[in-house]
Amino acid sequence: MTAPAFSDDPNELKKQLEAALKRLADQDQKIHDLETKGSTAGGARSEGSMEVAPISEADATLRRLVQRIAMILQAEKIVIMFYDREKGELIGIPPSYGVEEDRLNLFRVRATKGISGEVFRDSEPTIFHDPARDPRTKDDPFSILHVSNGITVPLVIEKRDEENRIIDRTTIGVLHAFNKRHGEDFNDEDVRLLERMAKNVGAIIANLQLYREVVEEREELLQTFESLNAGLVLVSAEGRISQMNASARTIFSCGTEALGKQYSDVIESPDFKDVYLSALKGDENFGREIAVGPAHNERFYSLQGALVKNEEGRDLGVVTIFIDITEMKQIDKMKSQFVAMASHELRTPLTAIKGFVSTLLMDDGFAAEERQEFYMIIDHECDRLTRLINDLLNTARIEAGESLKPHYTMVDTKSLLEKVLMIQKQSTMKHTLKLNMVGDMPKIVADEDKLDQILTNLLNNAIKYAPNGGDVILHAEVKGGVFEMAVEDQGLGIPKDHLSRVFEKFHRVNNEDNRKIYGTGLGLYLVKHLVDQVHFGKIWVESEVGKGSTFIVQIPMDLDIEKAKEINN
Ligand code: ADP
Repeated sequence: MTAPAFSDDPNELKKQLEAALKRLADQDQKIHDLETKGSTAGGARSEGSMEVAPISEADATLRRLVQRIAMILQAEKIVIMFYDREKGELIGIPPSYGVEEDRLNLFRVRATKGISGEVFRDSEPTIFHDPARDPRTKDDPFSILHVSNGITVPLVIEKRDEENRIIDRTTIGVLHAFNKRHGEDFNDEDVRLLERMAKNVGAIIANLQLYREVVEEREELLQTFESLNAGLVLVSAEGRISQMNASARTIFSCGTEALGKQYSDVIESPDFKDVYLSALKGDENFGREIAVGPAHNERFYSLQGALVKNEEGRDLGVVTIFIDITEMKQIDKMKSQFVAMASHELRTPLTAIKGFVSTLLMDDGFAAEERQEFYMIIDHECDRLTRLINDLLNTARIEAGESLKPHYTMVDTKSLLEKVLMIQKQSTMKHTLKLNMVGDMPKIVADEDKLDQILTNLLNNAIKYAPNGGDVILHAEVKGGVFEMAVEDQGLGIPKDHLSRVFEKFHRVNNEDNRKIYGTGLGLYLVKHLVDQVHFGKIWVESEVGKGSTFIVQIPMDLDIEKAKEINN
């Protein structure tokens, strides 16, 4: 039996869990019955079929039975061999009589070989008098038990229907009686006796096996519940927690001691109570969302409840499934933030452009210098608009699985760095922009426009996120075969848990200081793509809140210009 694979779809998962919990309840019932009541051989209870003792007594009963067989048959040794399906072997198992049980494991033979195999295969008893001369026993491990004569009968489990008719018959092993006492030989009467007693042995072993299988299945099912990503809580109709898997225990920060407690002592949420009570009344479409954890760092779960009944229709309780929807919520939130940001980012330059154009249209009396200044502002704002629209288009392209098409040439890094820095200098009065080139600057194979975009973006951010000014330093150096550029600022810094996330699409640090600074959260996402995918490089950030940040970019220098040209085409 393999563990069920649970679906990711919440509705499907709910149905699967209902069925699985029903199965678990059935297994519990079966285990309880086998442990306390015992059962009839083969399962079906009917007149004439054999009563088998409860599992708790099965071992002792079997042991007594084996002793009785030895006494009745006057046999020195009794050995049960069980068929191991995986190994294809018959193997000695306890209890035995007249044989050391730790040696039983050595008593084994292929199920197709020897007398043991023959009896197992044909399900017919056999008697043998002199194994040393009997060719049938050639492969049996009889010599290790000094066997001089014996009877071997099949161990058969019979399943009967209501009318006590045999509906199924399975051979599960063989039963041996060895060495008749007082130098005598076994006879046909002994065979009949052993056959009769083998039925009892078979029934007890079958029950033990059934028990082990159900217990194993139950363990497996519990294990699957335990490892489920979704949280699962089963609360009885009396309000006690009867199952709570690892995810649910993590959500409510409790351990297995929660089992058996009133749910209200463990799960305080009123929404949980609503879901539980509605499901108990049979309203299955009642769902809720809850937030767990400290404000601003909470996780969100969607809750669904279902009433679970066992085979006889008795209520087992309400199963509630907790599905983590935090990411979905965050994406939703980021999307609305993005729409707000993007509208703002579009409107600001448009307002400026419109303002200056209107002013120019209304009044022709401006001096040439003033006009020139207005035109420059309009030009600058148009560039800003274009940048935003390009960012949006490029994000859409990357989303669609397209890499941004590169155009590689030999790039003179020194003049590129100087140009980029010079342009950025014009955009701020508060900051001191410096260029720190260590050693000779190389010529590298790269996409010049995209390198420009990377540096412009990082410098822009360094200025933007250092609202009180300070130094902004662009470092560049060849280090161990790679060209390393770093943009250092003395700005707000980035909290530790955001360090890798700032490169994610739409991700923005949303604290008091940052909230006032507008942006779309797309810049670093695009920069990372340009570094990783277009230049096969690496980017990361080191930062301390309140002190500043350094974004480091490494571009490998081993791209061959000839190869690069092939990519261009
Ligand atoms: P945007 O600036 O449009 O929000 P980015 O993708 O460029 O988007 O940056 C993502 C986030 O990373 C920013 O919102 C900001 O919180 C943080 N960030 C980026 N650069 C810096 C920096 N130099 N200093 C502090 N925080 C920064």
